[in-house]
Amino acid sequence: MMKSFRGGIHPNDSKSYTADKPVVTAPLPGKAIIPVQQHAGAPCAPIVAKGDLVKKGQLIATTDAFVSANVHASISGKVADIGEYPHPIFGTCTAIVIENDGQDEWVEGLPLKRDWQTLSADEVRKIIREAGIVGMGGATFPTHVKMAPPADKKIDVFILNAAECEPYLTADHRMMLEEGDRIVTGVKIMMKTLGVTKGIVGIEDNKKDSIEAMTKAFAGTGVDVVGLPTKYPQGAEKMLIAVLTGKEVPSGGLPMDVGAVVSNVGTAAAVCDAVTQGIPLIERVTTISGKAIKEPKNILVRVGTTFSDAIDFCGGFVSQPEKIILGGPMMGTAQSTIDLPIIKGTSGILAFAEGEANTGVESPCIRCGRCLDACPMGLNPSMLSILGERDLYHEAKEDYALLDCIECGSCVYTCPAKRNIVQYIKYCKAQSRAQSAAK
Ligand code: SF4
Ligand code: SF4
Repeated sequence: MMKSFRGGIHPNDSKSYTADKPVVTAPLPGKAIIPVQQHAGAPCAPIVAKGDLVKKGQLIATTDAFVSANVHASISGKVADIGEYPHPIFGTCTAIVIENDGQDEWVEGLPLKRDWQTLSADEVRKIIREAGIVGMGGATFPTHVKMAPPADKKIDVFILNAAECEPYLTADHRMMLEEGDRIVTGVKIMMKTLGVTKGIVGIEDNKKDSIEAMTKAFAGTGVDVVGLPTKYPQGAEKMLIAVLTGKEVPSGGLPMDVGAVVSNVGTAAAVCDAVTQGIPLIERVTTISGKAIKEPKNILVRVGTTFSDAIDFCGGFVSQPEKIILGGPMMGTAQSTIDLPIIKGTSGILAFAEGEANTGVESPCIRCGRCLDACPMGLNPSMLSILGERDLYHEAKEDYALLDCIECGSCVYTCPAKRNIVQYIKYCKAQSRAQSAAK
């Protein structure tokens, strides 16, 4: 039996709402609201002006910063505005608003046909960078940076993170069933670019059909497809690497410190599109689900489409949602409005009906210890929350390994006192970062 990681939880996966639903293409939005920052790293700056006519796939915002990701027009039309707009992660952000001209016309030269096997690693890195590809599991780290590890970090394994361990989300599940060729090509391209021969695809065993489909798709490539025990947070990079390679990413370290690069299913397909056809990242598959949604779906949607348009495409609400979440219920972020754009990292939008969310009134810690048992990082979440409450972030960092927290939410899920442990931890991290910056 496959080794597992310590701690973790078994929430109801609630994937049945959409697991059997093939991906359907959402209508093009009347206007696309495209933020200049949809990624981890430096924001881009607009290179178009109000009134400009743009085509689908055209570069509209960029920067020289290495850790960043270009932004492209997801529809063709007229730039109606450039200004501050609500953003699902940053609160507000500069966005380029494109009014759809209904033509859906590609920028000149796209899509093209290119044989990736003839390209050098540097050429591939440049293409991935130009295409603005980021980790589509939600972390949105620029993929070209992952493809260029420092010379002293020898990479010996590429891992495709296909765990999709967050409840409700089924976008990767459906892509594995429907887009096997693109995923395989993307993985081959990334492995060649990194110069690795060992590849592993890790899929939770609650997706038997995906394991079967990926096993067939990767047959003969030398890449192993591995079924993993279903346990949250199996898809967290550190857990995935530990289970698949037996190596532990050191405290404060990165996967590359143990010779691993991890990428997500949607990202692999996007890499394939960019390298073989020159197509930048302008659309993605996302899951729209939750009991407040009339017809939960997996949709292929253009970046910049609003949550509201996507929800309308799913029949709207059956009841007033109690909570709207960007991403999964464990690590996602609650949103107060649906007038927000879908961005490159939007793996799901959930609308919970009354009583569906794991919420309640917070009360003091009763020292039951459940959160300690659940924490996959071996931390003391109870203590971290108490230190957060008392503003003792320095102690949280120095004595309780604050920075090792991966914000998986397993502690919150198990807490009978409904303590907002992750919020306290995020607060402590932010305070600690601010203190370091001030120094
Ligand atoms: S303390 Fe952090 S890593 Fe541990 S369970 Fe809570 S959120 Fe996850
Ligand atoms: S699970 Fe909640 S109540 Fe129990 S020790 Fe942890 S923080 Fe305290």
